[in-house]
Amino acid sequence: VDYKKNSGFASHMKKQDQSNSSSDFAKTKSIKQQREYLPVYTVRDDLLNIIRENNVVIIVGETGSGKTTQLTQYLMEDGITDFGMVGCTQPRRVAAMSVAKRVSEEVAAGVPNAKQGESEELGGTVGYAIRFEDQTSEQTKIKYMTDGVLLRESLRDPDLNMYSAIVMDEAHERSLNTDVLFGILKKIVARRSDLKLIVTSATLSADTFSSFFGGVPVFRIPGRTFHVETYFGKQVAEDYVMAAVKQVLQIHFNSGPGDILVFMTGQEDIEGVCSMLAEKIGGLGESASPLLVLPMYSQLPADMQAKIFEAAENGVRKVIVSTNVAETSLTVDGIKYVVDCGFCKLKVFNSKIGMDTLNVTPVSKANANQRSGRAGRTGPGFAFRLYTERQYKDELMENSVPEIQRTNLSNVVLLLKSLGVDNLLDFDFMSPPPQATLESSLYQLWVLGALDNTGALTKMGTNMAEFPLDPPLSKMLLFAHENGNCSDEILTIVAMLSVPSVFFRPKDREEESDAAREKFFVPESDHLTLLNVYLRAKQHKFDSDWCAKHFVHSKGIGKAREVRAQLVDLMKQQRLPIRSCGGTWDVVRRAICSAYFYNSSKIKGIGEYVNMLTGITSCLHPSSALFGLGYTPDYVCYHELISTSKEYMSCVTAVDGVWLAELGPMFFSVKESYANRILKRDTEAKRKAAMDKEMALAQKQLDAREEV
Ligand code: ADP
Ligand code: MG
Repeated sequence: VDYKKNSGFASHMKKQDQSNSSSDFAKTKSIKQQREYLPVYTVRDDLLNIIRENNVVIIVGETGSGKTTQLTQYLMEDGITDFGMVGCTQPRRVAAMSVAKRVSEEVAAGVPNAKQGESEELGGTVGYAIRFEDQTSEQTKIKYMTDGVLLRESLRDPDLNMYSAIVMDEAHERSLNTDVLFGILKKIVARRSDLKLIVTSATLSADTFSSFFGGVPVFRIPGRTFHVETYFGKQVAEDYVMAAVKQVLQIHFNSGPGDILVFMTGQEDIEGVCSMLAEKIGGLGESASPLLVLPMYSQLPADMQAKIFEAAENGVRKVIVSTNVAETSLTVDGIKYVVDCGFCKLKVFNSKIGMDTLNVTPVSKANANQRSGRAGRTGPGFAFRLYTERQYKDELMENSVPEIQRTNLSNVVLLLKSLGVDNLLDFDFMSPPPQATLESSLYQLWVLGALDNTGALTKMGTNMAEFPLDPPLSKMLLFAHENGNCSDEILTIVAMLSVPSVFFRPKDREEESDAAREKFFVPESDHLTLLNVYLRAKQHKFDSDWCAKHFVHSKGIGKAREVRAQLVDLMKQQRLPIRSCGGTWDVVRRAICSAYFYNSSKIKGIGEYVNMLTGITSCLHPSSALFGLGYTPDYVCYHELISTSKEYMSCVTAVDGVWLAELGPMFFSVKESYANRILKRDTEAKRKAAMDKEMALAQKQLDAREEV
């Protein structure tokens, strides 16, 4: 990559170089000193005062100023935890876990007379909760959690009485669940005068938050940032992975000390950059100065994630290659150089295929500036953007679109309905979702039987909301219970679908691992293949050697076991007995069909299928058991559609055409001609329109009555 301002760059840098890198800071200073060095410490008392005087406060501060790690502790030190926990929500699970770990260390270090070597366990005073994982206890006073967890807690405890204070962190992210929490918490603070609500943001967009709560105070933590010199690419980079690798090497060989933070979009390109860097540096032999390369993404094991915070040994340069979790959620000290690929992965509702897809999208200007800012936290820094200045100016949006305006909302709609919000248009959204998305979510829930014709929650819907799962998966589970007597099997399948793939496929042993995976194949179903792997692992007592030998991630299977155990608990709480079909796996496939019938395809040509509702053509994914064994049934259902060069159905199960008619009568009937189906679809659309109209009318009448 060529850079506009690149001439003489290296020499210029060396002059400016500061001898004291901030990684040393972490090594040489005590935790107490580190805490007191943070910008938020200088305003600690003012902050506590403003919180004492107001129920809702918005706090704005640069990333790294100490909002996430310090606020909760200040509140605890001020005694508020005598009346309930301090909860702190995070849009990202990685951040919730990582920050909780750090804060529990800080709390342990602050305990007077702590005995040597006695450290606070995570889950003691400080804990965290993410979906399917609760690391808290009776002793917990500070609880970090994902925003989704708090949202679900509001179902059980509508006033959130366990909490004396809630910090809604990273509000600028505008994640779907945080946005919904805004509306819910606004109601709760109106009811509970003893609850403190603190909303934090890393950007100046705080006025939106303040006016949402009726003009509450905004407190700004004074910043301490250094100048960051920003460089743009001269031409449009064709391959940002290659471009990033080149840029890192250029910095490494030509510039002074300081760690490098590279922003990529996800696991795949992150691993690409990491392995290419390792290869290049390795290829240079002894002569090259060493480079410590560390990946960071959400599916990375926790111990690997923790490594990014450790200082490298004696002066070795550290390169962290991360997703946008390092943009504002996590702060690593000592970063002097930032390399920004200019893209991120965004979940977007694709109306063409009727579901969310993860798309690689250009970042917004706000994201780009946050990314650059990471280089100037502890001294002057340098940011390299792998895109041109023209692209920045002309193609990047100012801010990204809030998640609530771009993703599927069926989960949120189900939850709000369970909270008694009958008319969603009445709900206090900070940014209302598009009406079409709301309607399509209502429709999806109606199709699954969660809502009745008037849009009210059915018994099925009420039960579905009890599970922290996507609506189709909870439907599958409940259907299995009601109809198939195979909840035992479906529990396993749902658990396996809720964890990352358990199939291990190392780079240099692809063939060997594929052969091992094939041994688990159940010809007619990838879902049953997952069930099969689990059952076989169970037979071998989940032994890690057995797993390794069969290219199965033993940690992944372990995680699936935990998820399963929690789902079992939820079933028991609802008094739903768990039964096994004992090997008649057709019933299991039928239950699968009950959840996915709107994701059903009919065979069209060799290896080609066409979706029966959307008309989209797609193929079996090459990892599918059906593909592997060359089995092409007439009808299939699938978990999701993956779009790359083509559309692929992933996680596929063969189904009987008759089941489709039985389970999705609103769409299908037996022996129906194409013309008939079109007719039926149109009638259905008309019926839906009529229903919407009726609902709107009824609502109007209700509203009118209330006004009187
Ligand atoms: P903010 O929320 O304002 O962005 P944080 O409270 O996250 O700021 O960060 C404050 C400090 O805590 C930073 O210097 C950061 O490096 C440090 N920190 C946060 N998490 C960890 C961790 N897991 N290990 C070591 N240091 C951490
Ligand atoms: Mg933070």
